[in-house]
Amino acid sequence: MANHDESALRIRPGCVTPEPPRELIARVPNRRRSLTRQQIVDGILRGDRALLAQAITLIESTRAADRERAELILEDCLPHSGNSIRVGITGVPGAGKSSVIERLGAYLTGDCGQKVAVLAIDPSSQLSGGSILGDKTRMQSLASSEMSFIRPSPSRGYLGGVAQRTREAMLLCEAAGYSNILVETVGVGQSETAVHEMVDFFLLITLAGAGDELQGMKRGVMELADLVAVNKADGANLTAADRARSEAENALHYFPEPANGWTPRALTCSAQTGKGIAELWKCVQEYTRLTKANGWFIGNRQQQTRRWMQEIIEQGLRQRFESHPAIRRRMEALERDVLEGRTTSFHAARTLLEMYSEPMPSGAH
Ligand code: GDP
Repeated sequence: MANHDESALRIRPGCVTPEPPRELIARVPNRRRSLTRQQIVDGILRGDRALLAQAITLIESTRAADRERAELILEDCLPHSGNSIRVGITGVPGAGKSSVIERLGAYLTGDCGQKVAVLAIDPSSQLSGGSILGDKTRMQSLASSEMSFIRPSPSRGYLGGVAQRTREAMLLCEAAGYSNILVETVGVGQSETAVHEMVDFFLLITLAGAGDELQGMKRGVMELADLVAVNKADGANLTAADRARSEAENALHYFPEPANGWTPRALTCSAQTGKGIAELWKCVQEYTRLTKANGWFIGNRQQQTRRWMQEIIEQGLRQRFESHPAIRRRMEALERDVLEGRTTSFHAARTLLEMYSEPMPSGAH
């Protein structure tokens, strides 16, 4: 129950409140508090963007009550999810990810008449406190389209937790009718693997002349790619971009044949002129047709959901284990013993695990 003294709407004695604003305020419901689970779910299924955003806020909340509500909403939405193509997009900062997404989004919402949701995973905000992707001014024209939904990366927590919240947001977007989900990540750290684990198709955006090392080609990111798009193929950069494209295509041939039956490709595009953007999407569609026909598409999604479940179990077990007061106390002592050579890591770990599986003596909690 709201405390009246804390309310911003408190009427000070002697202060005459003009009537019209009060009426207005009365007509605007406090949606967050007053809406039931059913109302939120119905809103999402109707494609209400405000309610979709609200449900994602519940997903991202660290409050146990919000989390509980979020899980119920997810459960209700699950039967309506899955009907989309999920595309992961990565590339170093400056490669043109948001520009390509903006162009691609305009193509999908305009020419194709389809809805597009853009989600993101940006681990930089946890490492540095600043965010590489999270800038709110990005993709402004796509953001203003009724057919699009853009959500920046959840910023709190470690990569596994952030990835889990993005996966859940993706399911809600699908239930809201977004048939194209673009999950953007930045080409630093482990986030590409996390995104690769939640999408059907993985797109690497590169630049001519930016250096293979920098662009992740040598760290296995290229191996994840179903398509490499050399962006900024315009103006004086055209020849260099063409050369970079054929180099990328050659490099792709050195990787082992993927199990999905698809031969990864390379093409050039320009987010500035729009050239190559439709071809890029045709490639995604071709991939989808092929992998749906050969059974990979559905099999891959099933494997992904199974791994998500395992991951959530692992996270949950670790969290319970580490937050147990008796184990925490004992762990500190055992860590000291290990560091000072009084016991082995193996013995210390076994002792703690055995403590966890034994019923705790009363008063240990
Ligand atoms: P991100 O950091 O990967 O999201 O990259 P941005 O989309 O923010 O683009 C970085 C810079 O490159 C911006 O100044 C864009 O205007 C520019 N840019 C993006 N795409 C193109 C393109 O196709 N051609 C040219 N010439 N510039 C581009």
